[in-house]
Amino acid sequence: MRLAGLLHGRGSTAVTTAEPSRTADAETPAASPAPSVTCGFPTSPIVGLDAVPSAETSPDGRADQARAHEAAAEVLADRGDWRKAYHHLKAAVSLVRDEQTVPSSVPDQLRVEVDRLRRERAEAREQSRRDSLTATWNRRYLDERLGTLRDGSEDGPVCVALADVDHFKQVNDTHGHALGDEVLRRLVDLMSEELPEDGFCARYGGEEFALVLPGVEPADAVRVCEEARARVDAHPWHEIAEDLRVTVSVGVACLGSSGSPGLDAADALLYVAKRAGRNAVAFRDAADGEVRLAGAAGGRRGIGAAVRRAFPSA
Ligand code: GH3
Ligand code: MG
Ligand code: MG
Repeated sequence: MRLAGLLHGRGSTAVTTAEPSRTADAETPAASPAPSVTCGFPTSPIVGLDAVPSAETSPDGRADQARAHEAAAEVLADRGDWRKAYHHLKAAVSLVRDEQTVPSSVPDQLRVEVDRLRRERAEAREQSRRDSLTATWNRRYLDERLGTLRDGSEDGPVCVALADVDHFKQVNDTHGHALGDEVLRRLVDLMSEELPEDGFCARYGGEEFALVLPGVEPADAVRVCEEARARVDAHPWHEIAEDLRVTVSVGVACLGSSGSPGLDAADALLYVAKRAGRNAVAFRDAADGEVRLAGAAGGRRGIGAAVRRAFPSA
């Protein structure tokens, strides 16, 4: 938006040039014997404009000066004298910005416009970080937050979990894609319930979701994930479709000051949970470094092969 449109809230500004002279200098008015440029302000033509307003100038006077500077800038810009036009525009902006001027001199129109732009910007920013299907956070937000959390990892542990819907392709194939979408929306609600403060759920992609749990000790993070898994398992899915059952497999790991990769580790543990029969939470036990399944799934046998495939170098 042109500054002219913003500054003209109180009456219009008519700038006329009478045979613009190449020698006329709007910056050094004292040197010009006859001003070649006039403006229709109640106060000064552009000759005699001070680049810096005096402290005594009243707010109304400053607003008039700002408009005059702007008019001068337009005339000079029309002539192609960009450098001088810039100086006048700068003077106009600093007059408008000035604290004393703002309350009484900035038109309501400008304030409303700026508020609207700020609001729209905040909304656009929020939208760009939300998943359109489930309205939970998206991958962009997840990446941003993980980057910040990694940088501040000395403030405490940051555990991340990756949850993947089990046999979701079958859900789509049996009940249709629209029902599959509804399952994903409900899943987000179930996973987001009872997250600790600062924790959040984000869609990692497709039917995979991340739970981020800053400031939560690893053992508590495993418990939070196991509870989320159990909530999904116990949900009355038959209310959506008879014989529908939905479960998730989860891998949970922590970002550490040691630079442990977090999401990659969670992904490898998710793989272990899948290979160990699904509907389970896999984690590495800090006590002995062993990979285990949480809760009742802990009694399942035969995760050794899955662990060796997921962590070949371990
Ligand atoms: P696994 O237990 O091994 O994870 O099996 P799976 O069937 O869940 O995994 P697979 O990768 O074979 O299939 C994932 C399916 O998720 C396929 C894809 O169509 C579906 N999917 C991904 N995004 C969406 C979505 O937004 N809506 C719906 N309805 N389906 C989706
Ligand atoms: Mg998947
Ligand atoms: Mg899946």
